Amino acid sequence: MVDNLAEDGRWTIQEGEQVPFSSLVAVPLVLGEEILGALLLLNEKRSAFIVEQLSLVEATARQFSITLNNSELFSLIRDQAENLGGMLRTQQMEASRSRAILESVADGVLVTDATNRITLCNVSTERILEIKADKALNQPLDEFAGVFEKASRTWIQTIQKWSKDPRSYQGETFAERLELDNGKVVAVTLAPVFFRNEFLATVSIFRDITHEVQVDRLKSEFIANVSHELRTPMTSIKGYVEVMLMGVTGQLNAQQERFLKIIKSNTERLNVLVNDILDVSRIESGRLILDYQETDVSRLAGMVVDEFHRRSQDDGRQMEFSLDAEPDLPHMMADPVRLRQILSSLVSNGYNYTPNGGHVTVKLHLAGAALQVDVKDDGIGITEKDGRRIFERFFRGDDPMVLQTAGTGLGLAISKILVEMHGGQIWFESKGVHGEGSKFSFTIPVAKAEE
Ligand code: ADP
Repeated sequence: MVDNLAEDGRWTIQEGEQVPFSSLVAVPLVLGEEILGALLLLNEKRSAFIVEQLSLVEATARQFSITLNNSELFSLIRDQAENLGGMLRTQQMEASRSRAILESVADGVLVTDATNRITLCNVSTERILEIKADKALNQPLDEFAGVFEKASRTWIQTIQKWSKDPRSYQGETFAERLELDNGKVVAVTLAPVFFRNEFLATVSIFRDITHEVQVDRLKSEFIANVSHELRTPMTSIKGYVEVMLMGVTGQLNAQQERFLKIIKSNTERLNVLVNDILDVSRIESGRLILDYQETDVSRLAGMVVDEFHRRSQDDGRQMEFSLDAEPDLPHMMADPVRLRQILSSLVSNGYNYTPNGGHVTVKLHLAGAALQVDVKDDGIGITEKDGRRIFERFFRGDDPMVLQTAGTGLGLAISKILVEMHGGQIWFESKGVHGEGSKFSFTIPVAKAEE
């Protein structure tokens, strides 16, 4: 409370400024610990205020503080409400956009929530699975499962497993082929939806692959028929050439003998190609079955090494082949025809992709519970880029030596399948440097022999 402002040091005035007030009462506007401002009462007269008025002014100031605070709170709440409203609108727009996208995709999308109820079933799902979305929505998946019969058992079991025990999900992707009763073949992929470790839903994507499967089947049948038909004339050509080479049709001059040998080796090569194609079609249709017999792998490897030694002489190439087998290797339970095919395929690659003067070594040794076969050459090697693809079907490298050699790019793909059918593994090592070559290794578990 100031009676005369002109005499109070706290009241600062600019030079030359006229102050119309003389006395003042000032009360801070306090709320809790916070000072919001001050309430000033000013009067032109000196000593216009008396002490008794002070408590009244203080009470008014308290009311002001509360009002001020309320209005600040109000605008804060209003701003927040506006923000939330905006967020909700964007979220609703996003949700309807996502729903529209999900509805319009060609793949079927089906979502189940944490309690296994179907919460989304788009138009494509209706079309592919021949169901009605309004019947499926909000239904427990298990009830609805009857539609698919047995085909969908593992798919539904996986969804149930994840919702019962979300921790059982190990990051795997579930992909399966459903063969429905209506003849359709549907590829389904399934993934769980987690949010901060909480299991929220599963999403299944369906794709109708009936047509692709039919085309594939026709293609395999066609390939199988054609390759089968090609074998008969080839056997006949090979047979007659061999007979002529034996001199049955009269003495051959050097040139005739050379030409017939070329025909013979090309027929053999053609035979390999046709057999590869036949094998692939057998593997695709599940008709390739192993014929397990007690097999002496060292003897098989010896036969393959001898065969290629002869072939290199016939081809006039200077190549060295050697076999290095650990003594007393056990006989294996394996399909000897297929095992020889794997060995031939690897040695043939070593032979084909190593320039003259090279070496191909076959090494047999025990490695843990398996017999390991290493086929090493000092040829062109395999670059890192090619190395990622060499076990793919029809893949062939682009080195001039590969381009000069007739091949289907099927040898390694078939070998891999055959090794895996035996329960083994196949891999290779190469620095990708010409002259340093490659080493292909595969294993066949010994355990099989004791079964
Ligand atoms: P193909 O020999 O008929 O081409 P493969 O499946 O046997 O088919 O081999 C695939 C490709 O892998 C070959 O084209 C070649 O590029 C590469 N490859 C395989 N073996 C060797 C090897 N020993 N040395 C270098 N490249 C190889």
